[in-house]
Amino acid sequence: MNIGGIFIEGTLYQKTKAIIERYDFLFKKNFGQNFLIDERVLEKIINAGNISEDDVVLEIGPGIGTLTQAIARKAKTVIAVEIDRTLIPILEETLSNFDNIRLINEDILRVDIRALSEEYGRPLKVIANLPYYITTPIIMNILEREYPVSEIVVMIQKEVAMRMQAQPGTKDYGSLSVVTGYYAKAYLAANVPKNCFMPRPNVDSAVIRLAPYDRKPFEAENSEKFFKFIKAAFSQRRKTLVNCMASSPDFKYTKEEFSALLKAKGYDERIRGEALALSDFAAIYEAMD
Ligand code: SAM
Repeated sequence: MNIGGIFIEGTLYQKTKAIIERYDFLFKKNFGQNFLIDERVLEKIINAGNISEDDVVLEIGPGIGTLTQAIARKAKTVIAVEIDRTLIPILEETLSNFDNIRLINEDILRVDIRALSEEYGRPLKVIANLPYYITTPIIMNILEREYPVSEIVVMIQKEVAMRMQAQPGTKDYGSLSVVTGYYAKAYLAANVPKNCFMPRPNVDSAVIRLAPYDRKPFEAENSEKFFKFIKAAFSQRRKTLVNCMASSPDFKYTKEEFSALLKAKGYDERIRGEALALSDFAAIYEAMD
């Protein structure tokens, strides 16, 4: 790794430690700073990203530029958005050998990803080791706004990754699985233990790949209402869908009314949300007034 014209040899751990010390960098917990120090995991993220030389990649939170460099070797362009301004001078040096990296010092939630995609004339590929404190808002912001993004390959908390890609009837299945599945197909690409980061986080991680649908399998006429329905359906895990819906402040159904609606659609009135796939929720939603 080349920093400031100085070539640092050694493992990714040694290189990271050397840069941190050279710049007296202090990790900020509130920015979710856990830097990747494992070469094999880096390779797994790059492989899962399946990067081609035409790709314009959006990296969220480049840190000291470890993943950024690996992406830049394969992609046409990398747009790296980092919130922490104290990392900018470090990145300017660690990335100085590349001419295909654009560095933006901004909060990703304030970046207009649509405008960036228009500027480059193509959908962006998102690849990142995400800051854990805002994993779900970052991913949901991209999915819900339907930004032009061809793929999202991100390292996140294992628990969230498991929930995103869970299937009906499993312990991880819940509203996040249904909402993710509404927008994208989710694949678990790798499990990553805590010791692959500096500093070591409290939880294990996983790399998840989300491929947003060009055409969704189901498009709700009123997506806000559909998501309220999903939220209500999983609001009390051990209750039936009928009980959840009758006690939801967002809907006005009595138990009898919702039982009748379910029966008319061919569902058992004792069914629970955790047993229903997105296609079932879609069929029931369409029968609701
Ligand atoms: N990519 C580096 C790596 O893999 O070693 C760093 C990953 S670290 C888990 C998360 C990075 O996201 C940190 O550099 C942090 O400062 C940055 N970050 C945190 N919140 C952010 C936000 N809202 N917008 C952009 N970057 C953010």
